[in-house]
Amino acid sequence: MHPPLSRPEALVEADRCYFCYDAPCTTACPTGIDIPGFIQKIRSDNLKGSAHTILKENIMGGMCARVCPTEVLCEEACVRNTHESQPVRIGLLQRHATDPVFDNDLALFKRGDETGKRVAIVGGGPAGLSCAHRLAVLGNNVVVFNRDSKLGGLNEYGIAAYKTVDNFAQREVSWILKVGGIEVRNNHALGVDFSLEDLRAEFDAVFLGFGLGAVNKLGLKNEHVDGVWDAVDYIARLRQSETKDDLPVGRHVVVIGGGMTAIDIAVQSKLLGSEIVDIVYRRGPEQMGASQYEQDYAQTHGVTIRHWAKPVRLLVGDRVGGIEFERTTLDDNGKLRGTGEKWSLDADIVFKAVGQAIVSDIFGDAADLLEQKGGKLLVDDDRRTSLPDVWAGGDCIYGHDDLTVTAVQDGKLAANAIDRYLRS
Ligand SMILES: Cc1cc2nc3c(=O)[nH]c(=O)nc-3n(C[C@H](O)[C@H](O)[C@H](O)COP(=O)(O)OP(=O)(O)OC[C@H]3O[C@@H](n4cnc5c(N)ncnc54)[C@H](O)[C@@H]3O)c2cc1C
Ligand code: SF4
Repeated sequence: MHPPLSRPEALVEADRCYFCYDAPCTTACPTGIDIPGFIQKIRSDNLKGSAHTILKENIMGGMCARVCPTEVLCEEACVRNTHESQPVRIGLLQRHATDPVFDNDLALFKRGDETGKRVAIVGGGPAGLSCAHRLAVLGNNVVVFNRDSKLGGLNEYGIAAYKTVDNFAQREVSWILKVGGIEVRNNHALGVDFSLEDLRAEFDAVFLGFGLGAVNKLGLKNEHVDGVWDAVDYIARLRQSETKDDLPVGRHVVVIGGGMTAIDIAVQSKLLGSEIVDIVYRRGPEQMGASQYEQDYAQTHGVTIRHWAKPVRLLVGDRVGGIEFERTTLDDNGKLRGTGEKWSLDADIVFKAVGQAIVSDIFGDAADLLEQKGGKLLVDDDRRTSLPDVWAGGDCIYGHDDLTVTAVQDGKLAANAIDRYLRS
């Protein structure tokens, strides 16, 4: 999505930083990275020190440098916006500092003295791996149970290919595991191969970071017809495809949704060669989950975004041929309603990008003991659930904003809390 900075470019960019006291960029970073601190080290040519400053707070600082929506986090808060409408390019500087760590396989963290405690982690995505790494550094023994055949979660299977190239997700995973003390059991799923009660009996503590396994439906007839795809499934296939020639590429693609996934699949389709790509969203631009920057990014990549319309009917023959919409508006109570006016778009591929949900029936007998809200787990500030020996983080907890960086922070906070609990 963004090419890396060269050394001269990075030095010029680092020179733009004011090294603010109480830096607002650091406050805006969900993992609290000392941003002026790492930029200062880039200026003094101490890239290893700079990377350490980043990765000690965010062990996935490499991936986050590629996929974080910095325009609504650290870069939005940067004081350079006030005078120049151009923040310090913190994300690209973060990438400049961390890339050499992965390119040269530099070890930056050591395992502490063995505590003799064992912790089970369910899910090997950003939340689970962040928790596993911090626990291992603190001297605990960790077993990661992961449903998929590779670790990384949505970093490996969900984030669009154009954002993370060169197998970076797996290079980052290998580097994280090198710290030691982390055993991985891929193809092991909670609720299928073992239960939460099994883990609680065998381990001193459990962390749940299994993300959201289910995809929301449109609720239309013929949703399973050929040519109608879940955007997340398509991206997963794309990310795992060696040659890309096993994937259908639509001539006219329609994407339903308004979040980051909708933007990703629309831009990705354009990059794969689709001629016409429309995103259709039921409310206005301000209500879209995708930031203004992401909306602009899609539009400058040839995607048309249409607002205030909801899908009402798939137009199908032996496969999808189009989709009919009804115009929407807000009534006097602010509730969304259809106006009755209909229109349609031709489509040979329709992507559903209307959100994900937690897989039901995953907790078995423990379901009643785990407090939930809106189908997600309720946790306290330490990410502890209503069970005293079970913590949770990432997309599966209530109130999470579905970003890699916040999942990493959840894992880190939970690991610190688990370690305190195990030592007390
Ligand atoms: C299409 C898409 C694009 C995105 N793009 C961005 C982006 O550009 N930037 C950004 O910051 N965020 C993005 N996100 C959000 C981000 O990827 C997630 O918020 C983040 O990955 C959540 O991490 P997690 O560890 O909670 O869950 P996940 O990444 O979903 O990982 C869950 C892990 O748990 C495992 N698992 C699932 N069920 C079980 C089970 N029953 N037992 C054992 N293991 C299980 C899975 O195998 C997986 O490894 C995107 C999300 C999607 C869907
Ligand atoms: S807010 Fe901007 S200028 Fe200030 S420390 Fe952060 S990056 Fe530097």
